[in-house]
Amino acid sequence: MSMRIGLGFDSHAFKTGVPLVIGGVKIEHPEGLAGHSDGDLLLHAITDALLGAVSAGDIGTFFPPTDPKWKDADSTLFLDTALEEVALAGYKIVNVDCVLIMHRPKIVPLAGDIRERLADLLHLDIKCVSVKGKTPEGLPQDGTAVCHVVALLESIELPNEHKQLAIAADIPDESEIDGVVSSLVSDAHDTSALGRKLPTFDTDDLT
Ligand SMILES: [Zn+2]
Repeated sequence: MSMRIGLGFDSHAFKTGVPLVIGGVKIEHPEGLAGHSDGDLLLHAITDALLGAVSAGDIGTFFPPTDPKWKDADSTLFLDTALEEVALAGYKIVNVDCVLIMHRPKIVPLAGDIRERLADLLHLDIKCVSVKGKTPEGLPQDGTAVCHVVALLESIELPNEHKQLAIAADIPDESEIDGVVSSLVSDAHDTSALGRKLPTFDTDDLT
């Protein structure tokens, strides 16, 4: 089994008049995050962490902000592409750990809903999704939200998983199958077992 790790980062400025979406969850707040898409910095950072873990570039590689197609786009679309890249590379997510850094809104009361939504989007158990909130003490980042994400992946070991499935289904191993097949074949050719006499005519004459 091989493992990969990916790091994602994103930041967006707060802006009045746009909805606030963090981790796919719409949050009641006087300001949202400015951005070409819906400004969901958490999903953007997770997307970058996943793409980075399989060396598939970054969110801008797939969704350039210069392309008007992605204006106001739902960021779950970006995440789905990253999940596809992870699967194509033969990996699955083990866990993600996320840090959101902003003065407001406070993340702790929202973390449960965000973790639940992320677990759903990432097809993970909620225990494998961590969301932490920090206030930017001593940092000149009023009016900006920042996010860091680390994602751990492990390779999908198909041969082993097949073995596990065979054990679970009580499927005999290859040598047992060979034994059963050869005994069936020899039985089929042993006409004496049927109690019949061999035909008196040459079967090759039959047309
Ligand atoms: Zn972003």
